[in-house]
Amino acid sequence: MPSSTPRSTPRANRSSRIAGFHKKSPRERLDLVAAFAGLSDSEVAHLSDFGNLAPDLADRLIENVIGTMNVPVGIATNMRIDGEDVLIPMATEESSVVAAVCNAARQVYEDGFTTSVSGNLMIAQVQAVGVSDPHAARLRILAQREALRTLCDACDPVLVSLGGGLRDVEVRVLDSLGGAMVVTHLIVDTRDAMGANAVNTMAEAVAPHIAGWSGGRVYLRILSNLADRRLARAQAVWRTDAIGGPEVRDGIVSAYHFAEADPYRAATHNKGIMNGIDAVVLATGNDTRAIEAGAHAYAARSGRYTSLTRYEVTASGDLSASIELPLAVGLVGGATKLHPTAQACLKILGATTAERLARIIAAVGLAQNFSALKALATTGIQKGHMALHAQNIAMMAGAVGEEIEAVARVLVEGHRVRLDVAQDVLAGIRRG
Ligand code: NAD
Repeated sequence: MPSSTPRSTPRANRSSRIAGFHKKSPRERLDLVAAFAGLSDSEVAHLSDFGNLAPDLADRLIENVIGTMNVPVGIATNMRIDGEDVLIPMATEESSVVAAVCNAARQVYEDGFTTSVSGNLMIAQVQAVGVSDPHAARLRILAQREALRTLCDACDPVLVSLGGGLRDVEVRVLDSLGGAMVVTHLIVDTRDAMGANAVNTMAEAVAPHIAGWSGGRVYLRILSNLADRRLARAQAVWRTDAIGGPEVRDGIVSAYHFAEADPYRAATHNKGIMNGIDAVVLATGNDTRAIEAGAHAYAARSGRYTSLTRYEVTASGDLSASIELPLAVGLVGGATKLHPTAQACLKILGATTAERLARIIAAVGLAQNFSALKALATTGIQKGHMALHAQNIAMMAGAVGEEIEAVARVLVEGHRVRLDVAQDVLAGIRRG
């Protein structure tokens, strides 16, 4: 535990206006923050340990760096995806997430998961307003498809040399609060990149031309995170006799029906899916917020927020499960190539294309969801969760080393996984 002795008391008149903060080194910034917040020597020592991310690299990845936040990386076993065994690195702070994937995958190991993608296409949007003849403007822009292709492809010769580039143009006339809006979609194959920067550059490059063709004023030029041209899909059939019989199967199907019908339930259902998905996205240095935004927007595409997975009973009585969601992930770009942990995790996964990575991630989301629904429909989520969570509670109570297991065991056996109980149990152990 960090010492509670502050190096200095927080300044009475604290100001967050710190001139030139961004120009200082991480250590200089940390000293300023320590003085501001009254951090102790041990807290400062802890924050200044960058772990396995070089301070220079961390300082280049984001602004105003003072430290890093380490998250455990666990490996999900038992996954067989499209006939190939895969070990899945998952970066998460939440207990039970990795175990859930291992358990689900073990129950379907022989058949495994089957996956596919709809493509690698990203969408960039260019917004034009104040267009007097929006429907005619739409046709004028569509007529410039080849000019748009030339403009976009010229932005990224590397991407084009790899087989990517502009694939299509769509123009929508939106009826907005501010009147008709002409929105051009650039549909771009971004190959093994997530592609945000790539398509944003293209959107900015074509903007003055779209302003001219439309006769309006262009404001926003940026990708859409609703990457519905980049869907990843996974399916698996859990045999009813391998998962505990028809009652368990029917409980899982009913849990899906609940999520399908009710946004309150669907939010939690999909959160569980994202437990698995985000963990692989983070482990591979991809953008968790982009994936979250895309997933939830896709879940609401009908106008009603619903489940990202589906469960059905096959003709032979087994449980057929499937997932489909946008997964704009890359092997290059952003932190994927720069972060050494991301590089090592990609090597563990053996994914050599962004497509394969997306397919693996979809399978992990499905596995995660199966485990959660099975637990919820049978013993409840707390039984499995609490065994791991009890260890966290024991540590929160101050247990170290062997005390952690000992305290956690008492909490679980007594069905009272609570901080106050952990403190009492720890005190008892220490008294001997
Ligand atoms: P990037 O621009 O860093 O790299 C992509 C570029 O790498 C391509 O344009 C291409 O020139 C090159 N490249 C080399 N090898 C390639 C290959 N095999 N396939 C494809 N391209 C290859 O990254 P990006 O993927 O364009 O953007 C991702 C980053 O953008 C992430 O860090 C994300 O967080 C950030 N971002 C996201 C949003 C959003 O989601 N709304 C907005 C802005 C930025």
